[in-house]
Amino acid sequence: MSILSGVISSYSNYRFNKMRKLEISVNNKNNVIKSIKTSPERFTVQKKVPIRSIPTMISIGKNIEDNVKSLKNNPDIPNTRASIEFMDKFEEHARSMGINDIGYTKVDSELIFKDRAVIYENAIVFIKEIDKFGVDNDFPGKQLKDLELYDDFGRKTNEMVDYLRENGFAAQASHPAQGFVTYPTLAQNAGLGWRGKSNLLITPELGPRQKISAIFTSIENLPVNTGHDHSWIGDYCNYCGKCLKSCPGNAIVEPTDGLNRSKFIPEHCIGCNDICTICLRDCPFNKKDYMQVKDKYEKIKNKKSLNYKTFNLSVC
Ligand code: SF4
Ligand code: SF4
Repeated sequence: MSILSGVISSYSNYRFNKMRKLEISVNNKNNVIKSIKTSPERFTVQKKVPIRSIPTMISIGKNIEDNVKSLKNNPDIPNTRASIEFMDKFEEHARSMGINDIGYTKVDSELIFKDRAVIYENAIVFIKEIDKFGVDNDFPGKQLKDLELYDDFGRKTNEMVDYLRENGFAAQASHPAQGFVTYPTLAQNAGLGWRGKSNLLITPELGPRQKISAIFTSIENLPVNTGHDHSWIGDYCNYCGKCLKSCPGNAIVEPTDGLNRSKFIPEHCIGCNDICTICLRDCPFNKKDYMQVKDKYEKIKNKKSLNYKTFNLSVC
């Protein structure tokens, strides 16, 4: 190991531990919602980053630290009710910053990562597009581009927290790179899409191509939308299974829990270091429009039920 890479490695370990301690310190605040025994472990992957990506990595770390440190800026007695007009303005502001979609839900303790806590159960979930060219093609600087997206989205999430505070609400940001909760299920609960077998969120607008962040807030009357039903995607995944078959690291393991939740083995995933995006690239939702996949699913379902009837008849 060269002296330079040794210094870089020691510095990143120091920053990582500092960030981790800060995040865990949220548990010491009053009335927070903590993880439970069955909560998932947050996985961390040791990244090999090119030297030129280091400023972006430092910026991501700083934003994660800032969002915990800034909790002291929450109003002592925060507002808990938001008007429809305010929520419209909030969404307009988020979209003007490039956020693609917004959903609302209550966070379950079982989604909070082990040793982490959130200050309110009211969750605002944001999604931001990963550029299709970047998913479908390999090119020099792809990893840096991905990190820059995390950095930009993290800063925007913090800015949305500031916006809520300026309007009298309390809020806690959850960074897209290192959040407090497991995002795909949170976003699914917020009606934004469905968690596919790849463990990625699949949405009507972007398929599997998005990053997710969240805000936990004092707003108790968030406009939770229960009208979306993307649950058919879970059934379609049972038919498809492409991400499991094509993953070069065997990082996605067939569900065994009866709930169709596939297991993800982070140590096997080469995505973080080599920017493998095969599970995104090969997903039919990346190649085709949401409604086209749904039509295909309906045809498969009808064919299956037709075969089933024929089988019954032949038995009779
Ligand atoms: S990024 Fe690559 S290695 Fe990781 S889960 Fe997806 S396909 Fe597998
Ligand atoms: S590749 Fe197939 S199985 Fe995997 S998430 Fe996409 S649709 Fe589901």
